[in-house]
Amino acid sequence: MYQTKAYSAASATSPLASTLIPRREPTARDVQIEILFCGICHSDLHTARNEWSSVMQTTYPCVPGHEIVGRVVKVGSEVTKYKAGDTVGVGCLVDSDQSCPCCQENLENLCANGIFTYNSPDKHGTAPVTYGGYSSSIVVDEHFVLRIPANLDLAGAAPLLCAGITTYSPMMRAKVGPGKKVGIVGLGGLGHMGVKLADAFGAHVVVFTTSPHKQDDALRLGADEVVLSDHPDQMQKHAGSFDFILDCVSAEHDINAYLSLLKHDGNMTLVGAPEKPLTLSAFSLIFGRRTLSGSLIGGIAETQEMLDFCGQHNITSDVEVIPIQSLNEAYERMSKSDVKYRFSIDMASLK
Ligand code: NAP
Ligand code: ZN
Repeated sequence: MYQTKAYSAASATSPLASTLIPRREPTARDVQIEILFCGICHSDLHTARNEWSSVMQTTYPCVPGHEIVGRVVKVGSEVTKYKAGDTVGVGCLVDSDQSCPCCQENLENLCANGIFTYNSPDKHGTAPVTYGGYSSSIVVDEHFVLRIPANLDLAGAAPLLCAGITTYSPMMRAKVGPGKKVGIVGLGGLGHMGVKLADAFGAHVVVFTTSPHKQDDALRLGADEVVLSDHPDQMQKHAGSFDFILDCVSAEHDINAYLSLLKHDGNMTLVGAPEKPLTLSAFSLIFGRRTLSGSLIGGIAETQEMLDFCGQHNITSDVEVIPIQSLNEAYERMSKSDVKYRFSIDMASLK
């Protein structure tokens, strides 16, 4: 075991602060990574503040961070895919049982025994729960380590590990591409990656935002149209016209208003995970035979596929790079939808 620098929350109401955390020495299948950048996902904030307590309680101290990019410093004796010096990533998952039907289908994200990068039981016993990427170093089973394409900017690549795969996976399932009209609801970290990817897939992309000042950015990021979602006249113009809508909103909002914009047999997928339950009118689905689904990140093979796609198309997140000392300010700004469009922590600031 060794100690590494980190930032943790001591309780749901305390600001994140500097600390030391234990990491295990790499075992035979482990990769030890020096973390260079870590994106700030809204899930980090939900967890640090125990906003999802009705589904999963946060154990404190909590070290969030699951959009990790770094450099391999050491590998275990059985590791074959990576060597010291490689540029790698770690997303939301660090383990799964690797034997259940989900894992056999490369859907480790759906494994009932999946271990998230933070706030999951630590089966190695290094600490009560796993600690995430707001730290200098992490040790991860090589199966859950991803390769970062060499051409990508590292600060901008970090958010691909969660925001990228979470938007890529449902759009691949929905066959988003040329001839499809796709809506992206909420232009935050996930939403702006959804826009970039849907545009790269060749779809007609419409952004729904509550922030009028984000309209120009939405077009620059690849949207074909922008709708201010609190203007009913603008919403009405799109009634019954979408093949697919991806809802990336982090707070309570009216999903029925979006469901009514789907064509018959259209699908809306929720990736945003608001703290409180959403209200669904049965008629929003019955009329038009529409479906509503959810999606959770993606499997490891699909995450690598997404990273390779981003490498080929030179897609990264638009990031504001911050020192870790600005973490609490970044959380405040994220809670006010004021991020353009992802914070990426420069981990050199933790040294
Ligand atoms: P984010 O950067 O904070 O973006 C959320 C966006 O939602 C905001 O920028 C804002 O967009 C919109 N929004 C916020 N409050 C709103 C409100 N009251 N009404 C309407 N719109 C509102 O968050 P993120 O990191 O993209 O994460 C989004 C959600 O996805 C979070 O709940 C997060 O936990 C969840 N998530 C889920 C998965 C998964 O696997 N399913 C993975 C990662 C994250 P506008 O300013 O454009 O309106
Ligand atoms: Zn995330």
